[in-house]
Amino acid sequence: MAFARCPLFSRLSRRVACASIAFLAACGAGTSGDKPPPPAPSVTAETAPPPPPATAVTTVAALPADPPPPPEPEPLRARFLSVGDVIFGRRIAKIIARKGDPDHPFRPLAKLYADVDFTFANLENPFTTAKKPNETPAGKRYAVLWARPDSVQSLVKYKFTAVNLANNHALDQDLAGVKETLRTLDAAGIQHVGVGLDLAAAWTPMFVDVRGLKIAFVGASFASKNDMGISRNNYVARIEDEKRLAAAVAKAREGAHFVVVTFHAGDEHKFTPNAAQKAFVKAAVRSGADIVIGGHPHVVQPVEKVDGKWVFYSIGNYVFDQAAVDNSEALAVELALELPPGAARAEIKKLLVHPIVIEEGAPGPADDARAAKILGRAGLPGRELTP
Ligand SMILES: [Zn+2]
Repeated sequence: MAFARCPLFSRLSRRVACASIAFLAACGAGTSGDKPPPPAPSVTAETAPPPPPATAVTTVAALPADPPPPPEPEPLRARFLSVGDVIFGRRIAKIIARKGDPDHPFRPLAKLYADVDFTFANLENPFTTAKKPNETPAGKRYAVLWARPDSVQSLVKYKFTAVNLANNHALDQDLAGVKETLRTLDAAGIQHVGVGLDLAAAWTPMFVDVRGLKIAFVGASFASKNDMGISRNNYVARIEDEKRLAAAVAKAREGAHFVVVTFHAGDEHKFTPNAAQKAFVKAAVRSGADIVIGGHPHVVQPVEKVDGKWVFYSIGNYVFDQAAVDNSEALAVELALELPPGAARAEIKKLLVHPIVIEEGAPGPADDARAAKILGRAGLPGRELTP
C-alpha cells in the first residue's frame, strides 16, 4: 500500500493525517522514516497487489503460438423417412377439395417431415392433365389411378423429394401418363426410381445426396397395372428380374454409402408375405441391399431380419383413401445414418418405426392402443429396432 493510493492523502497533509487513527485505519500504513513500517497487511480483495505490469503479459502473448490442431473429421449424417402408398386422386382429391386445403394430408406429421432430411414414398398414381378432376374411369373393373400434376407442390413443400414409381398403377394412364409423371417430377425437383422410358432407365438407381452422404434406392414391382402382373412392358422394373436387380444393386453399392431396395408386391389385405415377396427380399439382400422396404398389401406385414438386414414386407398405406380399420394402420420407417470419416459404408445409427393411423387421408401418430396393435402386427416389441 502506498500513500498515493490512499484517497485521503491528497486532502490532508502527511503529518496531520498520520496523527489521526482514522487515517491510519483508512490507509493501512504509517509514515516512512520515523519508525519501521508495520507488518504488511494481510492480502484481501481490497488490498490485493496490482496485476503484473502489462509488459509481462505482452511478452508472453508475443511468443509464437502453436497452430491449433486440425479439427477431427466429423462423420457425415443423414436422416430420412420411408412411407407407404401416396395418392392424390380418387377420394383424396375429394377430401382435399372439401377441406380447401391441399396440405391436409401432411399436416398431422408436418414437424416430423421438417425434421428429417427428406421423405421417400411410393407414389401410386401417375400424373395427367388429360382428365377432369375426379373423373371416374368408365368400363374398368379395377382401380385406375391418376392425379393432377399440381399435387407435386405439397410433396415438395413437405420434402417428399424421392419417390418410387414401380407399382401396379404405373401404367394406369398408359405411356403418356408415364411421360407426364416423369416430366412433372423432374420439373419439381423430385427424384424417382423404378420406372423409365426403357428398362435400363427403370432399373437405374436413384442417388439421394444428403450433405455428401449418398443413399441409393432401387425399386421394382410385381405388376405395372391391376392385371396381377400378366402384361409386360419396357417401362417398369419387375421383381422377378433378379439379374437386373443384382446389377442395379451393384451399381447402387458403387455410387452410394447406403442402399435401400423397395418393392411393390404381396397379396392385398393379407397379413403375411407371399412366396414372391420372400423370394425378392432374399435376392435383394443377397445382392447387397442394406434394408428392404415393401408395400402394396395395404396393411402392415411382419418386420424381420433376413441374413442380417432389416426387411419390411409391407408398411401399408400412407396418403390413401381406404377406410377399413386395418387399411388405415401403417408404419413410417425412420432411419438415421452415419458415415465415419473415410468409411465406404454408412451405418444405421437409429432405426425407428412410427405407428401411423390414417384419418381422412391424413397419416398421423397412432394412439397407444392402436400403436400396440400395429407393432404387434409387425411382430415388433417396440418402436426402436436394433440396427
Ligand atoms: Zn399397389
